[in-house]
Amino acid sequence: MNLTTGGKVNILIVDDRPEGLMALEAVLQNSEYRLVKASSGEDALRKILDEDFALILLDVQMPGMNGFETAEVIRERPRSRDVPIIFVTAISKDEQFVGRGYEVGAVDYLFKPINPAVLRSKVSVFVDLHRKAQQIQLQAEMLRLSERRERERQIAELRTESTRKYQNLADALPNVFWKANVPGSVDYFNKVWTQFTGLTLDESIGAGWVHCVHEEDRNQFLERWWSADAAQEDFFEVEARVLEAKKTEWRWHLIRGLVEKDRSGRKTGWLGTFTEIHERKEAEQERMRILKRESQARIEAEEQALRFSQLTQLMPQLVWEFRDTGELWLNQRCVEYTGVPAEELHKARFSTVIHSDDYGVSLMLWKKAVADKAPFSTQCRLRRKDGQYRWFMIKGNPVRNPKGGFRWVGLATDIQEFYDQNNQRARFLSVASHELKTPLTSIRTTLQIQLKSMQLERTIDNTQMQRLLDIGFRSTDRLANLIDDLLDHSRVESGQLVIESKRSCLAKAVHEAVNSSAGAAEATGRLKIVADVPDQLEGVWDCVRLRQVIDNLIGNAIKYSPDGGQICVALRSERDEAVLSVSDQGIGIDADDQARIFHAFERAVPHSDFAGLGIGLYVSSRIVAQHQGTLEVTSEKGKGSTFIVRLPRWTKSGTSQMGLTQNVSQPAFGGDEPFQATL
Ligand code: ADP
Repeated sequence: MNLTTGGKVNILIVDDRPEGLMALEAVLQNSEYRLVKASSGEDALRKILDEDFALILLDVQMPGMNGFETAEVIRERPRSRDVPIIFVTAISKDEQFVGRGYEVGAVDYLFKPINPAVLRSKVSVFVDLHRKAQQIQLQAEMLRLSERRERERQIAELRTESTRKYQNLADALPNVFWKANVPGSVDYFNKVWTQFTGLTLDESIGAGWVHCVHEEDRNQFLERWWSADAAQEDFFEVEARVLEAKKTEWRWHLIRGLVEKDRSGRKTGWLGTFTEIHERKEAEQERMRILKRESQARIEAEEQALRFSQLTQLMPQLVWEFRDTGELWLNQRCVEYTGVPAEELHKARFSTVIHSDDYGVSLMLWKKAVADKAPFSTQCRLRRKDGQYRWFMIKGNPVRNPKGGFRWVGLATDIQEFYDQNNQRARFLSVASHELKTPLTSIRTTLQIQLKSMQLERTIDNTQMQRLLDIGFRSTDRLANLIDDLLDHSRVESGQLVIESKRSCLAKAVHEAVNSSAGAAEATGRLKIVADVPDQLEGVWDCVRLRQVIDNLIGNAIKYSPDGGQICVALRSERDEAVLSVSDQGIGIDADDQARIFHAFERAVPHSDFAGLGIGLYVSSRIVAQHQGTLEVTSEKGKGSTFIVRLPRWTKSGTSQMGLTQNVSQPAFGGDEPFQATL
């Protein structure tokens, strides 16, 4: 409370009359007082609101608020409640008014005309009182202040002491110890830190320490701390590398932070440690590296095993492995082929699946291979699950096990086809020699008859000579045809069958073929050849080669119709194709044989019944294919066959040899001709 202004005491004098105010002012003129004048009750209240007063001299009779009312309001305000009020009045002297004055808080009552000496003395008493009160207050204040200072000094002393103890304790720790304030700025590190990093405390606090944490770990460390702080967690832990003083080695540390709180539980900062875990971490990392290498190696081994197992499962061969400890492993194909589980095969020593004629030899070879620790090889027939036996080549090599002992790893390869081909070739050679021998024998016989009759000097008449020469010619023709067939086959096989396509008339070739065979066929009187062929049907073909196809089809129709009947040769044009069909009423072909007779040396009849090499249809189908056409058969056993040739009419002209076409860029005809590119 300030009741003085510039060392002077504030006194409020209130009177509605200026002469009253002037009189009071004159009486109280004193260098120690500061007189503040108010001309009404309201004015006095305003002044009291603005500043504090040591004494109020208040006129009772005033227009508006009189002195009593004004005093009441002054007393209501806590700030001015205790300010002494001296009423001054000229009129209200009776007791009733005086009483009212004391009621509203007057400390004195003065009547006008005022005795200046009395007024001055009274005022000086109150001013004195006021000053004393102020002094007491001041002393009390100073006392409080000095008490507080003393307390603060003691607290500061305690703090310093506790901080010293705290630091001593922290320095005695074997680990780095750190402290941070609430915003997260590190403000203390113990000696272990400064010794380890070589930084001074000043260089370390704030953000200086951050550079000692490895940059690869730094962000993770700070983020972990900040996120713990943001989530109001009391603890965090992180691992990071810290650079040691010599700046040569980053060593792993476990960094821990714990929230520091005061007695009321309010967060006051962070405390934490750095504990060196380098050896443990290195060992852990080494272990992880070893584990990773191990798992990598395991994955690779598993992948390899899987690849091997997939490979062996997918291999068309039967794969097997036999250990000298007696274990046997077979791939899935083996089980699929034989239809017998591996254990059963092993138990029966394969006697149930190896053909009985081959078993003894194979077993003997196997025993010898095991005894000599040598490669094993045998050829034997293995029974398929449907009961059929097929030839297999079984081979196996001994492999030394890393842990001692031997195992044989091997394959069983199906060689049935190879076997069949060999058989077929052998059959073919026997048939071919027989076929070639027959006309040769015939020629030899004819020549022998001639020689003999010449030796006996018997004369042969012309008719006899003619007959013998006919036989000789027919035989040489047959021989020549057989040799042509064989040459064609070898041309096809070696890719030297040449097709020379040019614009030509297929109808003409068919007519010629029908005419040349009709004579011979119909001469026997048992076969009739009917031709349904237009006069002209042109296209780009090699008609010399196609004639060979037509001859072969008509020749076969005659050969395989031993009971006679009718042969129908038809040619028609269908869209851009020429369609040739040769039908007979002969022996027909079994449905199972219809596909294979187009392969070389394949026949559907026994050689004893029908002579032939099984080459004609093979060569014909290749000639047709070279023309981009097709050759098909429909037939019913015992009822006859129909061979149909479809040939595109407008393929490119030129010479082709097993799929190679020359002059292909030159169209055979002018622009109006239909043209179909097929290569
Ligand atoms: P080849 O007649 O010399 O045996 P091919 O290649 O001309 O040789 O015929 C192959 C086989 O097709 C013949 O052996 C025969 O079994 C069968 N074949 C061919 N044409 C006919 C036919 N028109 N009727 C019945 N079988 C036929």
